[in-house]
Amino acid sequence: MNDDRSQRDTWLQDYRKLHAIWRSGGDPAMGLTASDAKRQRDTARRAYFDGLPVVVISRCPYCGTAVTSPFDPWGLDGFWWQERELGAARSPSACPHFRLLTGALSLQGNAPLGGEHPAHPGPDVPYVVPEILQQETAIAVIAGLAMQNGYRAYPIAYFSSNEIAAAALSPTWRTTTCSFATPDGRSAWSARSAPWDFELAPWISRGKLRWIVPGDRDATLCDSGGCPYLGLPGERKNQIVTRDRLRLVDPPSGDEPDPFSS
Ligand SMILES: [Zn+2]
Repeated sequence: MNDDRSQRDTWLQDYRKLHAIWRSGGDPAMGLTASDAKRQRDTARRAYFDGLPVVVISRCPYCGTAVTSPFDPWGLDGFWWQERELGAARSPSACPHFRLLTGALSLQGNAPLGGEHPAHPGPDVPYVVPEILQQETAIAVIAGLAMQNGYRAYPIAYFSSNEIAAAALSPTWRTTTCSFATPDGRSAWSARSAPWDFELAPWISRGKLRWIVPGDRDATLCDSGGCPYLGLPGERKNQIVTRDRLRLVDPPSGDEPDPFSS
C-alpha cells in the first residue's frame, strides 16, 4: 500500500510540474515543447487514475451485485476528489439497478488537507436525499471506508428496480451540478440540488435505507440490528477543502436556480 502511495504522489507531482511547463510554453533546457509537456501531463494524470485501488463501495439491494469504484484513500489532494479533474475518472462499475452515487466524508478530527483545486467530499456525516427516496422502489445504501490519512469516507448509493429521477436531483459525489439524461435522451445539467436529510432512522424504518458495516470485507447489506451511521457527531454542512483550508457551506435548500425551469 505504501509503495502505491509513493507512486501516486509521484504522478501527482509529475502532473503539477508538467502542467507548469506547459503553461510557460515549454522548457528548452529539458528538451520539452509545450505540447510535449501537455501530452506527458495527461499521461501522468491517466497513470494516477489507473493506479488507484478499486474498492467495493456499495451493494445492490435488488440483485446483490457489489458496486466497485476506483478510490483515492490517501487524501483529498488526489484528483479523484477534485471536480476539476474528475472527468478522467472511471465511473463506478455496477448492475443496471444502480442510479447515483453521493457521499460524505469525516475528517475524524484530522487537519483538512486538499490540493490546489477544491475538493467537494460532501458533509461530515451521512445523509439521504428524500426526493429520491420518495420515489417508488428507490433504496439508498450507506458504506464507510477508512482512509489512509485517518479520514473516513461514506459512499451513499441509490438503487431502484425501475427508472427513477435520481441524477437530476443530486450531483454525483464530488461534483457540484447535476448532470443527467432527459426523457428524450439528451444530456442536461442543473444547478439545483434537492434538500438533504440527516435523520436516517425514519428511512431505515420505512425500508428505504440499508447499510454496510465499516470494515466488513464481505460488504454484507444490513437492514436491522443497529445502524452504525445513526447519530454521528459532526457539522451538518457541506464541506469544501482547498489546500489546508476547510470551508463550510449550507446544504442544498432546493431553491438553487434551475436553468430549465423558466
Ligand atoms: Zn442490481
